[in-house]
Amino acid sequence: MAPDLVLDHVRLAEGATQVSIAIRAGRIAEVGPNIPASRTSSRTRRLDLQGAVVEPNVADAHIHLAGTAMLADAILVQGVETRDAFCERLRQSPSQLGSDWQWVVGASRALFASLDPAALPSCDEKRRWVASAPDGHGLRLSPGAVALLPDPLRQKVATAGGRVEGAMARDVWRRLPPPRRQRLGPLMVKTLRELAERGIGEVHAMGESVATLRVLRDLARRGRVPIRVYVYLDAHDPEIEAALSDASRTPSTGRPPLVAVAGAKVWLDGTLGGKTAAMRAPYADDASGEPYDAKARLQVTDDALRGWVERLDRLGLQLAVHAIGDAAVEQLLRVSSAMQRPADARPIRLEHAQTVGADQLQRLSGLLCSIQPLHRLQDLAMATPRLGNQRISDGWRAASLAKVCPLLVGSDLPISAADPTQWRAELLGRTEPPRAENERLTQAEVAAALLRDPFTGRLRRVAVGANADLMAHGRGQDAPSPDILIVDGQVRIIAPRLLRTGR
Ligand SMILES: [Zn+2]
Repeated sequence: MAPDLVLDHVRLAEGATQVSIAIRAGRIAEVGPNIPASRTSSRTRRLDLQGAVVEPNVADAHIHLAGTAMLADAILVQGVETRDAFCERLRQSPSQLGSDWQWVVGASRALFASLDPAALPSCDEKRRWVASAPDGHGLRLSPGAVALLPDPLRQKVATAGGRVEGAMARDVWRRLPPPRRQRLGPLMVKTLRELAERGIGEVHAMGESVATLRVLRDLARRGRVPIRVYVYLDAHDPEIEAALSDASRTPSTGRPPLVAVAGAKVWLDGTLGGKTAAMRAPYADDASGEPYDAKARLQVTDDALRGWVERLDRLGLQLAVHAIGDAAVEQLLRVSSAMQRPADARPIRLEHAQTVGADQLQRLSGLLCSIQPLHRLQDLAMATPRLGNQRISDGWRAASLAKVCPLLVGSDLPISAADPTQWRAELLGRTEPPRAENERLTQAEVAAALLRDPFTGRLRRVAVGANADLMAHGRGQDAPSPDILIVDGQVRIIAPRLLRTGR
């Protein structure tokens, strides 16, 4: 069988000799010094990569796909300081999503704190709006938006005056009518294309709804999905049970689909910005004087977490656990270390690992540590007084985590940029302010983190039998876009200079 695609004059590492790569049915079929024309057919596409280094493409291990797509259509209130100006901005912003409600983002901490939907009737004559907290872990809903919720949630939110935080905010978010799929689908495709242009050939979409999964699968059937999408469903989605058991029945042999369910995501706590991260000791800037109860900040019980691990192990799927505070990390360690899991169980993913005590590091062994390097740059000013001088060195670790658990790297898009060039700079200590010297990665460690398969934690390689998910940068890794990006054996991005030389 002739290959679909042959890449000629490629190197597998800087300085290595040039080889050719043959690709068939989405997989690497051959890597060799020369693939003669006699072994190709008239349907084989042949591209001369002119000595470029070819490597596996990069995965963004943590993004929010529906959220990013909806953001493109949201009303931005950045720079809006007063409630009157907020209402004015709403009045000026036409409804784009064609949805039942409009998403409002970019509120400052001060504006968000001052938003009292019940006191803003003039904003709501015709508009139903839902405003997100600056850190994404709280909502303000106009009375019209509250009315879209099912009972008894509607009554709870109405009683709270449309102001909800933390776990309740996520519950409200998932009960709001989803955006129209005709609008959401193209916006998600646009996001995925933008990621492809940065050399990202795979994303791990976290906490997505079953409704979003349906839209993605529909797009994949129509050949519209440009890169791989692994979905970790929102563990609290009302439809998750059926979706998970359906996913576990999908055979794992053969050509993997571009959109696949990898598992589920569970939230153990909130964020540092919202003071909802579960810390073992009080926040350093907590002046409330109230007694501190770390356990009360955890959003699920140990039993519920254990139940999720067991359920996903049974299904052969993976659990991703949101844990920002060291008490949330401790809960995961406490629960997972006391469990007897099957030998073939998927490693649990620790998402964010933003504060990890020195005493916890060794016990992370067996987990995968999923970090977002650009969060440190965004959060440092807010978090320094919050964590205090003693604890700040527990924040945004990289090198000390890498010694005990395989690092996965991501953006948390739309929270920070999906840009491997920026991730690399941050992890190497080349950003301002730089990360602590003892938490910087070496070049080799960064390369390993970017080449890792976030599902297994293993390094991906250009080898016969591997998925043909490849990328080449002819002008060095820090080039803004790859010269070529191949996903599932298909060329998704190609530089014009390669098109001119290709046959
Ligand atoms: Zn996230």
